[in-house]
Amino acid sequence: MKRDDFRTRFAPSPTGPLHLGHAYSAMLAHDLATSAGGAFLLRIEDIDQSRARKEWEDWIFRDLKALGLSWPEPVLRQSERSHAYREAIQDLWNRQLIFPCTCNRRDILAAASAPQEGVDPTVGPDGVVYPGTCRNYQHGQFRVPPVATLRLDMRKAMKSLGNPTTFSFQEQGQGPNGESGLIAFTPDEIIDQIGDIVVARAGMGTSYHLSVVLDDAFQGITHVVRGQDLFEATKIHVVLQKLFDLPTPVYHHHRLIRDAQGKRLAKRHDAEAIRKYLDHGATVDDIRQRVGLRP
Ligand code: GLU
Repeated sequence: MKRDDFRTRFAPSPTGPLHLGHAYSAMLAHDLATSAGGAFLLRIEDIDQSRARKEWEDWIFRDLKALGLSWPEPVLRQSERSHAYREAIQDLWNRQLIFPCTCNRRDILAAASAPQEGVDPTVGPDGVVYPGTCRNYQHGQFRVPPVATLRLDMRKAMKSLGNPTTFSFQEQGQGPNGESGLIAFTPDEIIDQIGDIVVARAGMGTSYHLSVVLDDAFQGITHVVRGQDLFEATKIHVVLQKLFDLPTPVYHHHRLIRDAQGKRLAKRHDAEAIRKYLDHGATVDDIRQRVGLRP
């Protein structure tokens, strides 16, 4: 695969109509790639086969083309990458860094709330910080349990990386609190505020975090452009990159587009769907203006 100096991607999940927030993200990434003389890739994030639909994928292609965007074909679909996810999971398993977890959400919440009643459990970018219930698993067998939820033992992961004093990534956009430049964080922060993240969901064989890290590296992505809602998750991605000895791209987190009430757009509200704007005769420039991009 050819490596460019600037290679970015837009990575939607085909689970609903793209809205103005997606339009902003995709057009911004495309603009940045164009002005850097780099490449803009499209990746379909369809690991959740219970929610992904071919018709939404077709809508994605149609809407993005209507916005004037283009990308190299064929596009990468995460559903075609299960062998890579499986290999990575087996590798973490062999290193005894992951463990099967049978807790459901309720169990986790109850155990996480138990030590100090009345104090809310810490919630990180992968949900409630895992209280450790299943962590002491004895890794007898070589094979990964095929349909289990698998979690990364974050303490062991840090140890296997030699307990570095800090991790970091370069932020060219802004985090939700204006964070930019070199973003540094410590193993303790990761352990306390993020914890044992899920690397494979039961029956899925992977998780968003694992797939995104492996695929960004596989596609040679140098710049990740995405919403500020994923800023904290980037810390997870940096740790996974280190565990797999993969490069850390530069990140560009952008503001989120909101509706007239100031609420973040979501797929279930299709009021701000790109398609609606286009059907009502909006031009690409109208849409660019609506999301605050220069025509
Ligand atoms: N599939 C993710 C989403 O739709 C994209 C995440 C990313 O850009 O890393 O939110």
